[in-house]
Amino acid sequence: MATDENQALESDVKEKCWDQREALPGEPVCAVCGRYGEYICDETDDDICSLECKTTLLIRLAKSQTSSAQPPSVKLPARDECYYVRDGNNKTELQILTNTRTEQLRAKLEISVQGDNVPEPVLSFGSCNLPQKLLQNLEAAGYEMPTPVQMQAIPSALIGRSMLVSAETGSGKTCSFLVPVVDYCTKFKNNPQTPLAMVLAPTRELCIQVEEQAKLLGKGLPFKTALVVGGDAMAGQVHRIKQGVSMIVGTPGRLIDLLTKHDFEMDTIKILVLDEVDCMIQRGFREQVMQIFQALSQPQVLMYSATVSKEVEKVAGSMAKDLTIVSVGRPNKPSGAVRQLAIWVESNKKKQKLFDILTSKQHFKPPVVVFVGSRIGADLLSEAITMKTGVRALSIHGEKKMKERRDVVRSFLVGEVSVIVATGVLGRGVDLLSVRQVIVFDMPNSTKEYVHMIGRASRMGEDGAAIVFVNEENKKIFPELVDILESSGAAIPRELANSRRAVNSFSVGRAQKKRKHGY
Ligand code: AMP
Repeated sequence: MATDENQALESDVKEKCWDQREALPGEPVCAVCGRYGEYICDETDDDICSLECKTTLLIRLAKSQTSSAQPPSVKLPARDECYYVRDGNNKTELQILTNTRTEQLRAKLEISVQGDNVPEPVLSFGSCNLPQKLLQNLEAAGYEMPTPVQMQAIPSALIGRSMLVSAETGSGKTCSFLVPVVDYCTKFKNNPQTPLAMVLAPTRELCIQVEEQAKLLGKGLPFKTALVVGGDAMAGQVHRIKQGVSMIVGTPGRLIDLLTKHDFEMDTIKILVLDEVDCMIQRGFREQVMQIFQALSQPQVLMYSATVSKEVEKVAGSMAKDLTIVSVGRPNKPSGAVRQLAIWVESNKKKQKLFDILTSKQHFKPPVVVFVGSRIGADLLSEAITMKTGVRALSIHGEKKMKERRDVVRSFLVGEVSVIVATGVLGRGVDLLSVRQVIVFDMPNSTKEYVHMIGRASRMGEDGAAIVFVNEENKKIFPELVDILESSGAAIPRELANSRRAVNSFSVGRAQKKRKHGY
């Protein structure tokens, strides 16, 4: 085709995603935003709606080729560049890499560290001198090699360092603190058995999940656990601890309750884990967490979250001497594997929009988690979904009894219901294995919670999608939201881009892009 013709065509091409219309039934849809896929991206053969979405698509492609939660294949250093040590079984194991190699490896895995003498990342679980049974359990769980956060956090925790670790949602953080916990508890078992480790997490669901994963890793080892959460009878929990356990997992409120009513030996606890630490030091939890921390005798503290601020770093620093800070990937940003589609929907149209999505073969990708802002909202919306669309939906929130919450999650995970309408109780850390689509019906008040919520759509770097309803009511978080969407390569709804509150952030982003690309 003649160059002039090409130029003429190029000039007709829709530039922005919002210049494009919605797709009609049967028409191709844009691989990025779902609008009418009028063009084909030469590089990927995908349908796209505009130049904007083409750019997004190519950025996403480049990112997925360079970074994912799965570690990129790492070439081991040559033999003479490694030091070797012998472990207890007289087996030779690669343990320490040279400094240059370490830096290269960290750069490749997007690991950054702060602190003195931070140990090198390990490339295999086998090089950590773990009990043989624990190695077998890791293998049986399908964990062939450590994820980047595990590569760095496990060796640091194994030598007793207190740590603040930030890494994307779904990147294997739980295992990175459980491996050192199981290792410690099995190597230093005491008699009679009193708890050696305690894990605090903000929701019951997350505690249940952490305990389940701990049981998997500690199978066949002298490693018993107790779950201490509200909603279950306390007597059973007390009985379990009295029988002798190595690790307690619980929510702060119930733990304080239990500790004030019963006389338990806490001195033996040597490792304290604060999962979702930013949430744990917020008002509401902070006092309880500090009360528990002060009752312990200077344990090693392992603090984890996908979203860590300066304030969290300050508090973490006050809880642990010689803190090691580990950050993996893009801190405080959503998982790169989750494609975000933000749609501007007025509040009174949100229900209908949701029903449209749930009845569209093209857009509904069950099982789906719908996040809402209130308990009553969760109940009402789940009923309305079932009634109006025929899709089975259940709700989950903090007011439901523990048994009911367990049953809801179970029916969801086994596929008996396709939609779960949840408040923040499912927002953090919970591993909803088969979920690849999240709908944020009510935008939370903070973008941190948003990052955690949409993180439920991907585990271990697998592709997921988040549909996000946004309108003027969310104006407080517009600038940050625009930032997140832009940096993830997601399209910004026109109304959001035009909103005065977002203007500053948006125009800065555009100015930077302009400079970079020279247009
Ligand atoms: P998390 O970020 O801890 O919620 O973990 C996300 C998911 O990754 C969970 O389903 C884990 O079972 C899984 N996982 C954790 N570590 C590994 C690993 N080394 N290899 C494969 N899967 C893993």
